[in-house]
Amino acid sequence: MKLAILLAALGLAAGPAVAAPPQAPADLVADGYFEIAEPVADHVWAIRQAEPFHLQPIGNVTVIEQVDGLVLVDAGGSAGGGRRLVGLVRGLSDKPVKAVILTHWHGDHPQGLSEILKAWPEVRTIGTAATRRHLQTPATMNTPAAPDAERNAALLKQFGGVPPMARDNAAKATTEDEREGWRRLERLFLWLVKDMDGTLTIAPKEGFDDRLVLDDAQAPVEARYLGRANTDGDAVVWLPNQRVLIAGDIVVSPIPYGFGGYPREWIETLGKLKTFDFAVLIPGHGRPMRDAAYLDRLTALLAEVRRQIAPLAAEGATLKDAQGRVDLSAQSRAFTAGDPWRELWFDRYWTQPIVASALKEAKGEPIVQGLSG
Ligand SMILES: [Zn+2]
Repeated sequence: MKLAILLAALGLAAGPAVAAPPQAPADLVADGYFEIAEPVADHVWAIRQAEPFHLQPIGNVTVIEQVDGLVLVDAGGSAGGGRRLVGLVRGLSDKPVKAVILTHWHGDHPQGLSEILKAWPEVRTIGTAATRRHLQTPATMNTPAAPDAERNAALLKQFGGVPPMARDNAAKATTEDEREGWRRLERLFLWLVKDMDGTLTIAPKEGFDDRLVLDDAQAPVEARYLGRANTDGDAVVWLPNQRVLIAGDIVVSPIPYGFGGYPREWIETLGKLKTFDFAVLIPGHGRPMRDAAYLDRLTALLAEVRRQIAPLAAEGATLKDAQGRVDLSAQSRAFTAGDPWRELWFDRYWTQPIVASALKEAKGEPIVQGLSG
């Protein structure tokens, strides 16, 4: 038995008692939906997908308790996810949600906003100018701005196709890890199919260019735009009193996302993240981090992609050609530990899309945000 557990059992644990947060329902946690992370800092909680790796389709949500209300960073990825969040947030504090800051436009971060607005109609909604613009353009999104039966049915059909596909793939899998991975995907998407029903895209009312401050005596919040990275408008949120930095999908673990990113500027933005004297970094997906080791690994990975792409772009390689020739197998092990299931997703989530972005960047072509970008 660990000493700390023994001491706690005897009521002798050192320091002030930190109340464990109320937890999400056990079946949600077991299937890789929301759980509430260990206390992140005073007045700060992270709500995130449970371990093990469940393909990360749901963005982290951070809850910050100010004196007169709560600030959320991100809003869940669906109407049902937003309703689950409302329940979890009410379990953490009796205070109302006063503001929601959206880190970026990708659907798994803003799409629970409609339900948060139903629960707390006075809430301020905030994003960078670029994020606001994307969310005002429902063509960028897979969900409509107002109820639309036809688009809703198409979306449910799309999500509904995942569980049977996952079941088929589990049956064909050649390793136990892969079989279990597809089974986890099936279980999680059975929740997501229900939760996507009625999901809307709501744009934040307030945009900002560089900085927006929500001042407070115990937990002031600074929303910042540091430059392009994962999208063209990623917000990061800094809590100077708690020294917590919330990075959105500029930082995703264990497998980063490469869709529509800007490799050169991403490296610069990661460098700016390192200048914050953070005690905790909350990524867009994955566990809170206590040091900059993962930022360094991600920076090195982006630099390696750019190094390999440069000569391919110079010789005019096509996308298919480049995707076949870029080899990140030496780098991927640091993210996947060699697990074949994670290797598969490293290739799909990172290598294929980031090669597409890096090739465009190297050829001087625009990287366009949007579902088809
Ligand atoms: Zn995300």
